[in-house]
Amino acid sequence: HHLDKPAERLLDRRKKHLGYSLSVSYQSPLLIERGRRQYLLDHTGRRYLDTVNNVAHVGHEHPAVVEALQQQAAVLNTNSRYLHENLIRFAEELTATLPPELSVVHFVNSGSEANELALRMCEQWSGTRNMIAVETGYHGNTGRTIDISGYKFAGKGGKGCPPATKIIPMPDTFRGIHRDAENPGQKYAAYARQRIAEWADQGEKLGGFIAESILSCGGQIVLPEGYLREVYREVRTAGGLCIADEVQVGLGRVGSHFWGFELQGVVPDIVTIGKPLGNGHPLAAVVCTPEVAACFANGMEYFNTFGGNPVSCSVGRAVLRVIKEEGLQQHALETGDYLKTQLFSLQARFPLIGDVRGEGLFLGFELIQPSTAPASAHPSAPHDAMSPATKQASYLKNRMRELGFLMSTDGPDENVIKIKPPMSFDRKSADQLIHYLSRVLAEDGCMMP
Ligand code: PMP
Repeated sequence: HHLDKPAERLLDRRKKHLGYSLSVSYQSPLLIERGRRQYLLDHTGRRYLDTVNNVAHVGHEHPAVVEALQQQAAVLNTNSRYLHENLIRFAEELTATLPPELSVVHFVNSGSEANELALRMCEQWSGTRNMIAVETGYHGNTGRTIDISGYKFAGKGGKGCPPATKIIPMPDTFRGIHRDAENPGQKYAAYARQRIAEWADQGEKLGGFIAESILSCGGQIVLPEGYLREVYREVRTAGGLCIADEVQVGLGRVGSHFWGFELQGVVPDIVTIGKPLGNGHPLAAVVCTPEVAACFANGMEYFNTFGGNPVSCSVGRAVLRVIKEEGLQQHALETGDYLKTQLFSLQARFPLIGDVRGEGLFLGFELIQPSTAPASAHPSAPHDAMSPATKQASYLKNRMRELGFLMSTDGPDENVIKIKPPMSFDRKSADQLIHYLSRVLAEDGCMMP
């Protein structure tokens, strides 16, 4: 791959004036100029199928969302200290999708801001900043959200786990510390109880617990049954609040439910919503119970200059409307199930694929060294020997890009391929993806030990 002149020039200028810690995707970065539905077009007119972008939730540049933005932007954009129909309508429409307990909305502009505010709510509620979070989680780029994000503080440039954070293992039943446990939900939830006890021994209390409803940075890990119910019980008994980070998985993506936490049959105290809510427009929200909202309103105003402005609210309302009108939740369920079935048949052909998992259009498949794979006919084969196929995952991602498919890797070993496309992704997209995946999986680059 060689960069052509326009791309090279942009890359040079970018290096000069943009923050040095910002990366670009792919060794020879893409210059993307247009988006439509589940497709992106580069500056040469080449089309890519986007299997990565869960921000463009209802499809890149969806006309109804664009129109809602344009119309309101031409009329009024101001802050939330004025009364405005869009603001209250959006709050009503958003809370209507949630359990009745979650009825109070604070509008913000990013997932990081949402989680930052949720952390302040936990502190106000409990009187402590102590938080329990899940290994390899990412919850935002602010000081306090980095402090609860193992993905950042335990990685390059990180300063390690701060004293006010305790981490519990990912409840990974494929390659985690409990694989064949009788009741993995219970087994993994017990770590929360342990951490709470450790703090109690030092006379420390608990502020709260935060987890994504399916672990994305962790590698598309679906929580085992009963996990959140058990953890939430422990956390609440200890006086803490439970935050569901729905920034990646929310708004119908998991198919069977509108919100990811509903897969676990729980109701959090606080839900944080981001990426898909504005379909690319910076829009996020913290929704909590009236009790939490009342406690947080301690006299200090929470004001957010851009949060809840009429343009953003108009965009958010359009997103909710499109999800409903186009039946995208049901579509995610059907298309996701179809794609998952196809991925299972790939797994049967290619031992490189160790696991296929996910819900709706939030899927992943994990690559492990074929020599260490449990043969599918022998589910009790030596799991312990499984080692991640990180190089093959990188090869596959880059080859798929050459063939016109944008895919991303994640998980602590970067060996999980994530699939979380715009929800306009359809059966035809699934068939094309599977066709090219089977081609690349048969190449030498995916064979190497
Ligand atoms: N939570 C999760 C689960 C995320 O994936 C992200 C972003 N990757 C954030 C929070 C932070 O959101 P933002 O980048 O909008 O600040």
